[in-house]
Amino acid sequence: MAVGGYNRLWMTDQAPREARFELHGRSYHVPSRPVVAVCIDGCADEYLDHAIQRGRMPQTARLAERGFRTLVRGALPSFTNVNNASICTGVPPSVHGIAGNFFLDPEAGEAVMMNDARYLRVDTILAAAQRAGRRVAVVSAKDKLRTLLGKDLDAPMFSAEKAAETDLAGYGIPDCEALVGRPAPPIYSGGASIWAMEAGAALLEHDLADFVYVTLSDYVQHKHAPDAPEALDFYAGLDAAIGRYLARNAVVGITADHGMNAKTDATGRPNVVWVEEVLAESFGAGACTVVCTITDPYVVHHGALGGFVNVHVHTGDVEEVAARLRGVEGILEVWDREAAGAKLELPTDRIGDLVVLGDRSHALGRTREAHDLGKLGDVPLRSHGSRYEELVPLLTSEPLPESWRGWANADPRSFDLFPLLCAEVKA
Ligand SMILES: [Zn+2]
Repeated sequence: MAVGGYNRLWMTDQAPREARFELHGRSYHVPSRPVVAVCIDGCADEYLDHAIQRGRMPQTARLAERGFRTLVRGALPSFTNVNNASICTGVPPSVHGIAGNFFLDPEAGEAVMMNDARYLRVDTILAAAQRAGRRVAVVSAKDKLRTLLGKDLDAPMFSAEKAAETDLAGYGIPDCEALVGRPAPPIYSGGASIWAMEAGAALLEHDLADFVYVTLSDYVQHKHAPDAPEALDFYAGLDAAIGRYLARNAVVGITADHGMNAKTDATGRPNVVWVEEVLAESFGAGACTVVCTITDPYVVHHGALGGFVNVHVHTGDVEEVAARLRGVEGILEVWDREAAGAKLELPTDRIGDLVVLGDRSHALGRTREAHDLGKLGDVPLRSHGSRYEELVPLLTSEPLPESWRGWANADPRSFDLFPLLCAEVKA
């Protein structure tokens, strides 16, 4: 992707330029300091609490003390692609169009991954910031997000997953692993995320970018509870990189795409509602198709079992199907298409006739045969997708601006992160 002229732009040691732009009805005033936004994938607030209380995140504790920390609502379904798209556009799924990791494409007539930028219906804040003169970069742990968020962006974008094979020479980065100083660890590890965080720091330290989005993987959160030693070590690793952002005088914002909860019974076995089996018993095989929108290439994380599914009703009455599902233990919410659009801010052309959300301790699946629980390994199922994983932390390195004082008490959202980082921040 080497483009004439970009070499000079990326190699310059110019100070970040103040920049202003409008996007989707929101105003952005990018400060003349580096800006770093981090999406800690699967970061339920408890992970920060446990790590900070044990002294494992001193930089983050300092950041929150000087700046601001609160809980915010993400977008539903509480999945990765949906919320990364929201954070990077500043709008809900009804506007940006990403309604899951996976959906039944009415045009293609089949279920497809929603990883491609062509499914994103609106401009990103990243592309707008670049047009306004900022040197944007995107680092992800999972490669799927690099492709989704790269819409109209001509900038260094790379993932830990595909670091070795990404050519960024056109942006002054001949070797992204050399930039970070070590090879990227495998994607099924916490190390992939820590590497992505360090890549963000290296971009600032080498003056290769001044508007950076870093988005991680929830491998650790899927596998370990917030007080597990593995989780605490992981958060300590993230914290060290956050310290490097602060050392570069960056305006730092941190949020999450979704939380994470155990979906197990008292003995640790997975609690799963097999939604398509329930519907086949009541309405006949093939009457309904269930699409698990959590499905993505990272099956070891969750076995495609999350807290949200789409139900497509082929024969029979949608209301009757809804009524049947409302009586099932483990199901918390059932909405028809129009209600889901209005109440859950979903794009009505990319969801099922019904959307179904689980409760705190149940995951939703299709049929026993459709999911390979063996892929989860030896650890209890932890997953996300429902209301219970919608609430996430948001932290900024700066105090809340005067004009944002009422925000925290009026349904604050995770996708307010960039607008908040670009609002009256001190130069
Ligand atoms: Zn995620």
